Amino acid sequence: MTSRILGRGAAALPAAVRGEGCYIVDEAGRRYLDGSGGAAVSCLGHSDPDVRAAIHDQLDRIAFAHTGFFTSKAAEELADRLVANAPEGIGKVYLLSGGSEAVEAAIKLARQYYLEIGQPERRHLIARRQSYHGNTLGALAAGGNAWRREKYQPLLVETHHVAPCFEYHFREEGESAFDYGQRVANELETEIERLGAETVMAFIAEPVVGATAGAVPAVDGYFRRIREICDRHGVLLILDEVMCGMGRTGTLFACEQDGIAPDIVTFAKGLGAGYAPIGAMLCSDEIYGAIASGSGSFQHGHTYHGHPLAAAAGKAVLDAILDRDLLHRVRARGEALEAALNAAFGQHPHVGDIRGRGLFRGIELVEDRATKTSFDPARKLHAKIKAAAMAEGLICYPAGGTVDGRRGDHVLLAPPFIITEDQIGELVGKLGRAIDTALAA
Ligand code: PMP
Repeated sequence: MTSRILGRGAAALPAAVRGEGCYIVDEAGRRYLDGSGGAAVSCLGHSDPDVRAAIHDQLDRIAFAHTGFFTSKAAEELADRLVANAPEGIGKVYLLSGGSEAVEAAIKLARQYYLEIGQPERRHLIARRQSYHGNTLGALAAGGNAWRREKYQPLLVETHHVAPCFEYHFREEGESAFDYGQRVANELETEIERLGAETVMAFIAEPVVGATAGAVPAVDGYFRRIREICDRHGVLLILDEVMCGMGRTGTLFACEQDGIAPDIVTFAKGLGAGYAPIGAMLCSDEIYGAIASGSGSFQHGHTYHGHPLAAAAGKAVLDAILDRDLLHRVRARGEALEAALNAAFGQHPHVGDIRGRGLFRGIELVEDRATKTSFDPARKLHAKIKAAAMAEGLICYPAGGTVDGRRGDHVLLAPPFIITEDQIGELVGKLGRAIDTALAA
């Protein structure tokens, strides 16, 4: 049957009809273990009773009241609890409907901040070449994914890109991980100086790179050096935790593990956990204070921002993560997943790297482990893994990409925080069979 949904032409996809914990059931009754939470979304699985009850309860009271006229208890409570658990300095929350919107808001907030404090010449945004920040034009301009940017290049605002921190491919022979991190972090300072520090507004980065790389954390010391450089030059640090935030890596904010606090941070996927479309931009009291005592308000807004149903879902998800001690569970299950991946693929001739934090893990597939040479892109290995995994009854998130001349196929894993040890075994077993099927095809 031809689908009338744009983007769903020839490829017939199964219709998902039911969610049961870590599983999605399709119309034919087939069960899929959700090993990636879709795209790192479904952190509580698919049938959480508390989140469903919170949404029903809000719906029974009121579904929508425009933020130009009203706030809601759900939005206020969500913001309070996010701030209470946020890195130092973060004091305000702006609720949106997803990740791209949160990133757009972050970029605009940075710009307004500098206008308010009398530095209108600060307009440049610096990002990293290996990054994805969303598909709307501002967020796409920030992202470094060449393939996603290519068609829209003439429409994108100028953004400057520096090297990612990607130890597996770019740490040099004999260089320590720490020295490597300092070297690539210093590229930010070189770029700030090249542009003229007085013209640079912000630097944006994912603490653990998701979609474009498959769960790549920075090496120890990298982000502390980034923070120092930003502070020295008065550049705002925006951390995009749309994918890696909300407990995915074992701490509520991924950057806690890097020992830094951002000026602005974005959340989305795990915040709604798939139960509602919601994103959040959090900023420091200092930024908001400058705006409050200047023109008075952030000049931004969407009809649906702060939607009460989405806020109720987000609050229930946050409560679940904090009150059920799920962060502890993410760390423990994350270690179990890492051990299972190492046992299954540590000696695999075509698995070059196994990486990540918490329940955010990636494996990279290579033609040759010794030289780290990737497979010919024409082989479309990642697409074959995705298809083979679906046939096995597993959802995982494979992708391919190139950064600074190094190409890679990777598989991103981001299972629900409620995954059991047995289900980790099932995930890794199915993934192994899917990879071998794809390699043999
Ligand atoms: N930032 C990051 C780090 C992401 O991974 C994504 C989504 N993959 C986005 C932003 C955009 O989020 P959304 O798709 O909800 O607009």
